[in-house]
Amino acid sequence: MRFPWQLEDCELILLRYGSKRPVHKWQDHTGGKRFRATSETKKLIETGQFNYAVYCGNGLIVIDADEPVLRKAIEKDLPETFTVKTGSGGRHYYFHSDLERKVILYNRDGNHIGEIQAGGQAYVVGPPSKHPNGNFYEVINDIEIADLSKEEIEAWIQSNGFRDKKRQTKREIERNFSNTLDIPVTDFLHPDNARYRGSEVYGSHPIHGSTTGMNFWVNTVKNTWYCFRCESGGGPIEAFAVAERIIDCSEAGPSCFTKEQFKEILSMLKERGYDIPEFSSFEDKAKREFNYLVKKLNFELSKRRKRKGRFWSDK
Ligand SMILES: [Zn+2]
Repeated sequence: MRFPWQLEDCELILLRYGSKRPVHKWQDHTGGKRFRATSETKKLIETGQFNYAVYCGNGLIVIDADEPVLRKAIEKDLPETFTVKTGSGGRHYYFHSDLERKVILYNRDGNHIGEIQAGGQAYVVGPPSKHPNGNFYEVINDIEIADLSKEEIEAWIQSNGFRDKKRQTKREIERNFSNTLDIPVTDFLHPDNARYRGSEVYGSHPIHGSTTGMNFWVNTVKNTWYCFRCESGGGPIEAFAVAERIIDCSEAGPSCFTKEQFKEILSMLKERGYDIPEFSSFEDKAKREFNYLVKKLNFELSKRRKRKGRFWSDK
């Protein structure tokens, strides 16, 4: 099986055979190395000694589409392009683009339907690599990689009624996070060129930067943070996960971790000497009950507010 000619100029990452795990560090901040295809590296890949991945950054993006609804929308509206069938039966649509951040796509009901890998935080496994399940990544449209601008992507997302993330306001972040941990957000994410205003700190996002110099905000009393570019945020755990590149800044928010990630993060924090309370199942239950009561209370209050609103407008 051949290495695809479309990926000759892309930045690549060597993976273990039959796996998605990189052999080396690959991200810029880790000083990691990526490579371009040479006759030797192509041979290693074509003879099944290594898998490889394609770096999604520096002008290359890949729409990762497992859901049929997303695939239909791509094939209906977007230019035909180099396309790969993944080991799990999904599709990777490659584009040259000026989009510089990862986009997580949701349908109208808020269900996750796919991702646009971009902005240098992600990679996709390339053909003819072998998926952990034994299937091979396979080229299914053997044509050139098409161009797709950021504006075209945004228009396409809108016209299909998709949302590019569960948008959150600064206020929601404050409400949703009961930052019980006694760990300052600023231990992990501290705004660059910070300006202080009481308990608030504004500045540049320390991980992905800022064009305005003011896209990152921390409230040191509430111990919350917010990114105005990604409309995301959270407390110290989310800050730690973003700083450690466990999640992308745009992913930070309520229930942004898998169970495994959350456990891993807590044990990493413990290793660094932070005092992490043990979460017993009893505490989980108490937390759920508490959250339910808060929700109920908020619902009652909003009903009351609505009623009051009507009263006022009647006058
Ligand atoms: Zn951000």
